[in-house]
Amino acid sequence: MDSVKYLLPESDIPSAWYNLVADLAEPLPPVLHPGTKQPIGPDDLAPLFPEALIEQEVSTERWIPIPEEVRDIYRQWRPSPLFRARRLEKALDTPARIYYKYEGVSPSGSHKPNTSVPQAYYNKQAGVKRLSTETGAGQWGSSLAFAGALFGIEVLVYMVKVSYNQKPYRRALMETYGARVVASPSEETEAGRAIIAKHPDSTGSLGIAISEAVEVAAKDPETKYALGSVLNHVLLHQTVIGLEAEKQMAMAGDYPDVIVGCTGGGSNFAGIAFPFLGRKLRGEAEKDFRIVAVEPAACPTLTRGKYAYDFGDTAHLTPLVKMHTLGSEFVPEGIHAGGLRYHGMAPLVSAVVSRGHVDPRAYHQLACFEAGVTFARTEGILPAPEATHAVKGAIDEALRCKEEGRSETILFNLCGHGHFDLQAYMDYHAGLLRDHEYSSEEVAMALAGLPSVG
Ligand SMILES: *Cc1c(COP(=O)(O)O)cnc(C)c1O
Repeated sequence: MDSVKYLLPESDIPSAWYNLVADLAEPLPPVLHPGTKQPIGPDDLAPLFPEALIEQEVSTERWIPIPEEVRDIYRQWRPSPLFRARRLEKALDTPARIYYKYEGVSPSGSHKPNTSVPQAYYNKQAGVKRLSTETGAGQWGSSLAFAGALFGIEVLVYMVKVSYNQKPYRRALMETYGARVVASPSEETEAGRAIIAKHPDSTGSLGIAISEAVEVAAKDPETKYALGSVLNHVLLHQTVIGLEAEKQMAMAGDYPDVIVGCTGGGSNFAGIAFPFLGRKLRGEAEKDFRIVAVEPAACPTLTRGKYAYDFGDTAHLTPLVKMHTLGSEFVPEGIHAGGLRYHGMAPLVSAVVSRGHVDPRAYHQLACFEAGVTFARTEGILPAPEATHAVKGAIDEALRCKEEGRSETILFNLCGHGHFDLQAYMDYHAGLLRDHEYSSEEVAMALAGLPSVG
């Protein structure tokens, strides 16, 4: 029987998240205070996050139990399906077997509710009344708005102004879930007012919106801050993806030779890859495999950035973390994969790349949209612009297998659908999209502003 979908029952939703930190040979470099540049303690993070999330952020435990209330909500869309891309394989005429885990089945259409739900849960437990956050294209904002609605927490979203004006449908979704959405930079915060005073026409950036959301949380004892990627606890929550995929690959009687994910802040990539990588680090993997992280050439954090201490935001309110970065001043080209336009990378993903466990790779957006269209015309699902990077990575691996005459197994994460991103596809079909290659001078200039840490 040639199965296309591998489906798990609700009872197979993982009961614990997997923490890669437990299996690293060396610990992560410490997080530093932005002022003193000394290692920070859990207390320094208390104004922003509830204790339970701070504990997860610094935990070295391998398994962290998922609360029953969270598992119960996960049942709305989890376990997500694993597909064998038989029609794509046929179109590519490849001997490779291609599988994809599809996270677009969640209510907001991406992997992000895997973490927005537990984040809202722990904040509710701590008595928090309101969550503030930033969003670029709106994927994270709508995922947190959904979670806020379930737990009765107010959600305040600073949305990058250019997206606020250009993407009214994501905003409508957030407002339908009950969130308040503010165009950033705004007059509501000091960080926002400072930017507007300097640049009255600023169309905003993720770094600015983070500064606004962090400021609001730091000043209001009833408000905490929520981040949709980058942090250890966010990557932890996303491991439900890979934990389910392990079981589904076993159902298929197969095991990956290559695992592919796209990287913006690193969370969906970590979600699919870390449970497999953990087994490898513990010497328990069925066989050896490669892991490929795909990023946009217009924001080449892993392939051309530096592994160094940097700030997470523009106003330099966040702690310093060691990560691959293009510099907090870096403003990437306005490519359509909005979720991949971040100057930094998750410290955990950066660490495993620098330690040689992951091969990073960058693609231009035109090639990615072409792959996305091929995928839509064979498998039927329209990938989010971010997800087309993973699709392109998987297709390239499959074509390599064809050239080499090898029937390898490729697993990739299809992290979201593109139903809110049709303008991007319209622009692609109309020939309006361009590729942008950064010169070495531009990259060097952006990196020159990195903070010096002794
Ligand atoms: C937010 C987002 C991303 C980028 O974030 P990661 O933390 O790197 O996963 C990628 N794809 C989709 C669909 C997103 O919504």
